[in-house]
Amino acid sequence: MKDLTAVERVARSELERLQLVRLRALVARAAERVPLYRERLRQAGVTSRDVRSLADLRRLPFTTKSDFRDAYPFGMLAVPLDEVVRIHASSGTTGKPTVVAYTRRDLATWSEVMARTLMAGGVGPRDVVHNAYGYGLFTGGLGFHYGAELVGAAVIPISGGFTERQLMVFQDLGSTVLCSTPSYALFLAEALEEAGVAAKDLKLRVGFFGAEPWTEGMRTALETRLNVMALNIYGLSEVIGPGVSVECPERRGMHVAEDHFLPEVLDPVTFEPVPAGATGELVLTGLTKEAIPLVRYRTRDLTTLDRSPCACGRTLARIGRITGRTDDMLIIRGVNVYPSQIEHALMQVPQVEPHYLLVVRREDALDSLEVRVEAAAAVAAAGGDAMRGLAAQLKRKIHEVIGLSADVSVLPPKSIERSAGKAKRVEDLRGKGGAAR
Ligand code: ADP
Ligand code: ZN
Repeated sequence: MKDLTAVERVARSELERLQLVRLRALVARAAERVPLYRERLRQAGVTSRDVRSLADLRRLPFTTKSDFRDAYPFGMLAVPLDEVVRIHASSGTTGKPTVVAYTRRDLATWSEVMARTLMAGGVGPRDVVHNAYGYGLFTGGLGFHYGAELVGAAVIPISGGFTERQLMVFQDLGSTVLCSTPSYALFLAEALEEAGVAAKDLKLRVGFFGAEPWTEGMRTALETRLNVMALNIYGLSEVIGPGVSVECPERRGMHVAEDHFLPEVLDPVTFEPVPAGATGELVLTGLTKEAIPLVRYRTRDLTTLDRSPCACGRTLARIGRITGRTDDMLIIRGVNVYPSQIEHALMQVPQVEPHYLLVVRREDALDSLEVRVEAAAAVAAAGGDAMRGLAAQLKRKIHEVIGLSADVSVLPPKSIERSAGKAKRVEDLRGKGGAAR
């Protein structure tokens, strides 16, 4: 098999030459095949001939999720349906799902970037990949599946759910690699503990966790409880699915597969690039996608961009943890709050379980935030005083991190609903009469 990862270590100048050739071709193709791009590029007065350097990227128009929604289902397609061999949809976390399509070559690209994702964690033919991402319209399941096959690992397409079967497979089939959302991985860790199975007696060694925001505190929890190296992965349906970026074992940001996806991090108001290290909105250009060419897609995900060399030898730029989506942002009494900030605060207190739900209400025109979180079993067993003490401690911590006072409800273990996919972290009841369950 050709060395798929060679491109991850080429000199920046060589990588950028490749990106420029691909960018020019993308613009030509988008203008020729997709009415929306033709019109936008015309308005911007740019043709593929104007793309002379990568800096010209900034002259190109943006694409947004609402463009996909307006074009629902197939208006973004640059090929006739005969050339489409797969259709997926986004999870629909923030509204109507967007439909995405792949040509045969797109599937090959996707398998390649997913193989590279797995290889970043050292996955190879000897591995048994326990793929608990959901199979179906969601891109997580099949994305990991094809990548795992390409590296020659044995993939177990277990999908999410059926906890007992998950535990049986871990033990009997010797899963070495776990692929799932971080919240589901935590649920599995809990289920193993309950069944009296010690993680060190399993063969798991690496986990690829993503599809939802998570924190360093959660990483520590997953690494100790599952006895794995926990790597962050990021991707989104509109761009390809998972496979856009992954951490290397250095775990200092996720390398973007820049030969296929060109990243920018921009100020979401001015659309100027943010200074190095500052947080902004991630904008991705899909350099090679055939079915749906993607010009400067505004992901609404917030992150940082780091182009400095990485100790692992990859020359690919890295994005930081996704701290939230612009549309996840809650404005509570005028303060901007992302659920991941609350998670960060909670995870600094050892006696809590990282299962939480934020409930926002409005009473008499005043917003209130309730943070529901589970206590560790020992605290719950110690009784009411211990629970109240923990709540007070958490309240102080949250105030320290977000500068907002929240009502903290410390609940017994297992009170908060678990999900096999993306966890639900927010219940915003403002404008809905304010009644919570
Ligand atoms: P939807 O936008 O409906 O959730 P997708 O299933 O395509 O559709 O999910 C992509 C989104 O999931 C990203 O835009 C991002 O908000 C989130 N996401 C994916 N990976 C991560 C990650 N590692 N950290 C935080 N958020 C992530
Ligand atoms: Zn690296």
